[in-house]
Amino acid sequence: MRVILVEDDAELSRQVALRLREAGHACEVCARGEAALRRLGAADFDAMILDVGLPDMDGFAVVERVRAERRALPVIFLTARDAVTDRVRGLRAGGDDYVTKPFAVEELLARLEVLQRRSQPGPEVSVVRRFGRWVLDPRRRRLRSGDETVELQPRECSLIEVLLAHEGRVLSKRYLLENVWDIRFDPGTNVVDAMICRLRRKIDTAGQASHIETVRGKGYVFHAVP
Ligand code: CA
Repeated sequence: MRVILVEDDAELSRQVALRLREAGHACEVCARGEAALRRLGAADFDAMILDVGLPDMDGFAVVERVRAERRALPVIFLTARDAVTDRVRGLRAGGDDYVTKPFAVEELLARLEVLQRRSQPGPEVSVVRRFGRWVLDPRRRRLRSGDETVELQPRECSLIEVLLAHEGRVLSKRYLLENVWDIRFDPGTNVVDAMICRLRRKIDTAGQASHIETVRGKGYVFHAVP
């Protein structure tokens, strides 16, 4: 993999880069957000490891700019210990994963490899699915209904796929956090509710019941036909 590491702590970035290279990855290091954005514009990378606290701009702003250019580059945030709001903000900004400082480089490496596997589309993810008036194309992360096309963020697309796979069954927020976000702690915020809300705005039809029913105190149920 060709990895761009954006971290202003010189000793930490030296250690991480060394280990990534030992594991067979190419690693380029930037200490500032602007420098990273310039490199991203000039070369192709397979993944980015991004410190939240950079001297010139925060990591969230870097990811927002990457996503604004519609680049699907997998991003792992490096966040401060216990900064739950940072992790959630990072995931909302369009990050794919996070590692909390201080971390074992091996953990970072393992997460990077998971992202790599996930970003290589296997045959199963190109299967087109239908629900209601929509046709879901997970590979292009797109919904179509007649002439109407709705683009989906990677996380929104994963959420629809998980909901579809368990149609008619109640899924808890905890289940969704684990299976859509890979989060195994309580983020203490409404990251799931917020995305369900966003998804409803995209897939529901005015004047009809929602595809995604809220079951108070339990979670959500997906209905192919609301
Ligand atoms: Ca820093």
